[in-house]
Amino acid sequence: MIRRVCVICIVTLLAAGCALIRPPSTRRTELVFDTPCTVTVFGRNANRAIDAVFEEMRRIDRIMNAYDRSSVVSELNEAAGRAPVSVPEELFRVIETGLAFGEVTDGAFDISIGPLVALWDIGGESPRVPSATEIEDVLDLVNYRDVLLLDYQRQVLLKRAGMRIDLGGIAKGYGADRAAELLHEIGVESALLDFGGNIYAVGSKAQDRPWRIGIQDPFEPRGNYLGVLSIADTSVVTSGTYERYFEANGKRYHHILDPSTGYPVDNGLMSVTIIASSSMTADALATGVFVLGIVDGLALVEAFDGVEAILVDENRRLYLSSGVGERFVPSDDRFTVVDRVKTE
Ligand code: AMP
Ligand code: MG
Repeated sequence: MIRRVCVICIVTLLAAGCALIRPPSTRRTELVFDTPCTVTVFGRNANRAIDAVFEEMRRIDRIMNAYDRSSVVSELNEAAGRAPVSVPEELFRVIETGLAFGEVTDGAFDISIGPLVALWDIGGESPRVPSATEIEDVLDLVNYRDVLLLDYQRQVLLKRAGMRIDLGGIAKGYGADRAAELLHEIGVESALLDFGGNIYAVGSKAQDRPWRIGIQDPFEPRGNYLGVLSIADTSVVTSGTYERYFEANGKRYHHILDPSTGYPVDNGLMSVTIIASSSMTADALATGVFVLGIVDGLALVEAFDGVEAILVDENRRLYLSSGVGERFVPSDDRFTVVDRVKTE
């Protein structure tokens, strides 16, 4: 009897304790967009909010993943050179945004990169270095200007047979924006989304303290940071050579391809981090600026209001855009911070 009373007391105390000291955050990781995605939510109803986010991310992935044969993007790619395809409003907008970034980057960011991605199969099951002729043949099919939008019917046409759209450089950003919007709708005030390098900090961490985001050191294994960014209600997206790559003949071939050469970008950059309130903008620009290189890339970033960048090159130099300021603190002196003006 005494023992039973004790057990009841302990259970009651534990329950009271749980009610009083709520765990500060709930975190979950799932595989979406072909990458581990982690959602951390502070406050009440966190599990329900996280369920809603992952459900929404899987829905978007089912529409936009070019490597899922039943996705709308696959349907569009199948119809290349034949017929326009009606697409959902949100896909139409993402493609439209992708094409706009094709324009502003002068084709460095190109959502019609699909045939090249397929040829290299970087991050796929059998990556290989294609022959120069193979690359030449496929390069002809990569041109965002051949993706036609038929606005009045929300249709998309890929002009030539063999063309393929690949939204790998922008879809995670769209997903992060949608997730942040959804969390606001649900009433979540503080959350952190990490979709494979696409970070969205919803609100601040606690009591108006900003989120502190570590920027991956591209020379070190994952989890080693070259510096910390303090942000709130903002997205931070990094594109780096370390994300997806394979090695052949002692050389590293990574997943960011130059649409003008057909080869992985080889311009001395190791990573590009973009800070912007829209994660889709940050995602497209991280990839696009990586292809453009230090000088043209930074010039483009400076042309955007509210967009900042941190570029890292192979000589451990850090190039910061003019508005990064105090928000970024390098971890130590292994990197040299270069004044932007000196690159021009
Ligand atoms: P991210 O990790 O955002 O830099 O995007 C890289 C992914 O975008 C690759 O895995 C490809 O699917 C796709 N991609 C590669 N090169 C380009 C490019 N030049 N423009 C647009 N998308 C690209
Ligand atoms: Mg990107």
